[in-house]
Amino acid sequence: MKKKIAIYPGSFDPVTNGHIDIIKRAVGIFDEVIVSVLSNREKKPLFTTEERMEMIKEAVKAIANVSVGSFSGLLVDYMKKHNSNVAIRGLRAVSDLDYEFQIAHINRELYPEMETVFFMPNAKYVYLSSSIVREAASFGGDLSKHLPANVKQALEKKFAK
Ligand code: ADP
Repeated sequence: MKKKIAIYPGSFDPVTNGHIDIIKRAVGIFDEVIVSVLSNREKKPLFTTEERMEMIKEAVKAIANVSVGSFSGLLVDYMKKHNSNVAIRGLRAVSDLDYEFQIAHINRELYPEMETVFFMPNAKYVYLSSSIVREAASFGGDLSKHLPANVKQALEKKFAK
């Protein structure tokens, strides 16, 4: 049988335990998950694409069948290149839905054979986002419950400068 490869695209600036929760759920269903960092300079990320990829690699190293990549440009082109027709996204609350629907419909228009599959994280991660984490870290907040240990360290280093 052909391997079912799913792509999990996002900014991951930085990866949080909410993202990790989604990755763990996704590998339970798909043969391989490629966590794919969107390389978007316009968004002025806190971490470079390479830093974001390294942090994810370290955080997922104990999870089988997960790899890490990056892309710029259209997600659908990247998916086709990796022989994938499944994009994974996380849904925290109804507030995510409007934006996620827009992306999913545009992507479907561009690549009709693909499916966007949504996963719900554990309730404890519903209020967690990379932007909240960046803001709290900039004020020295303790984020150990919300972040992989290596990400917590990287954030502390970033804001110690
Ligand atoms: P993007 O800029 O593409 O929204 P993010 O890194 O913020 O990138 O999020 C990537 C995906 O992960 C999105 O589908 C987002 O809804 C989901 N996500 C982000 N944080 C969480 C979380 N705490 N729990 C579940 N899913 C999440």
